Amino acid sequence: MATDHVPALVLGSGCAGLTAAIYLARSGFNPLVIEGDLPGGQLTRAARVENFPGFPDGISGYELLSQMRRQAERFGARFFGGSATEIHADSGRKIVGCGSETFSCDGVVVATGSSPVPLAVPGEDTYGGGGGVSSCATCDGPFYKNKTVSVVGGGNSAAAEALFLSTICEKVYLIHRRDKLRATATTADKVLARKNVIALWNRRVVSIGGDGRRMDRLVICDVNGGDQCELACDGLFVSVGHRPNSDFARGFLEMDGDGYFVLSASDSSIGSVEGVFFGGDCCDRLNRQAIVAAGAGARAALSLERRLLRLLS
Ligand SMILES: Cc1cc2nc3c(=O)[nH]c(=O)nc-3n(C[C@H](O)[C@H](O)[C@H](O)COP(=O)(O)OP(=O)(O)OC[C@H]3O[C@@H](n4cnc5c(N)ncnc54)[C@H](O)[C@@H]3O)c2cc1C
Repeated sequence: MATDHVPALVLGSGCAGLTAAIYLARSGFNPLVIEGDLPGGQLTRAARVENFPGFPDGISGYELLSQMRRQAERFGARFFGGSATEIHADSGRKIVGCGSETFSCDGVVVATGSSPVPLAVPGEDTYGGGGGVSSCATCDGPFYKNKTVSVVGGGNSAAAEALFLSTICEKVYLIHRRDKLRATATTADKVLARKNVIALWNRRVVSIGGDGRRMDRLVICDVNGGDQCELACDGLFVSVGHRPNSDFARGFLEMDGDGYFVLSASDSSIGSVEGVFFGGDCCDRLNRQAIVAAGAGARAALSLERRLLRLLS
């Protein structure tokens, strides 16, 4: 199998990966970006981003990431449409397998982000992929114009999804297992002020029902008493958390019990293996914000640049 050698590889094309690519490309290291199966990353699912500096009127997530990509391409970054499936070291070089392709590099930025956690209830698989269960309101919300949908979750993502859906749908149930949202106060206040958002506190989804092709109801229960009831709805948006995309590196890069990469206490771009640098949500369970991921991507790129310059001298 042929192995292409590049000075710098970037794994992931979200805010962290693209920022790393901009820095590396601008410094002349011609990075190759392995895009993953969600080009542009999670933020492409945000209808409106209001807290990324430089856009006082807000910007769509898709547009923001498209601009980042154009900026990286302008300085010479190249893109590969695939995902890393394996990584190991060979005589100091890092070897990254992407299905049938293999790339060798002098250093790599890992910015593979995270993916939505499923609810793991009966009906989720049956009605996923077009049957009514989704994890992306921006992508699938427009299919539910004037309909009734449910969002399950209580964090910022769930609140953002419910807020967006409330502009399209007739009614949005917001199902949360606690008695208040974990989302930041501004977002929580905004969503709960919407007249067509109905919060169902202390509830969890037990199962998803329908005719086998499309869902049309949920069974929900009270987390305290266990009482169950049916809730008629046309769609369900699952927003109950994220899991880092780190499986490809298991056994090579150190990660914690939840799969987040473990970083050095003195430099948050460095992990357990020399020449591998990190940025973004794949190693940050706390902040999970676009600007933080972009900053971490820049930091990882700068660390990699120092390594590449050392190798050249
Ligand atoms: C609906 C929604 C709305 C949001 N709104 C906001 C907001 O308004 N403001 C804000 O600051 N933040 C917001 N966020 C959070 C923000 O999107 C994330 O913090 C940010 O995208 C993290 O960037 P990242 O580059 O670390 O990871 P991600 O965006 O998750 O990107 C990861 C990239 O890695 C790729 N990848 C995965 N596995 C592999 C692999 N094995 N090999 C190669 N590539 C791989 C993926 O395809 C993707 O391109 C929102 C998130 C969601 C879901």
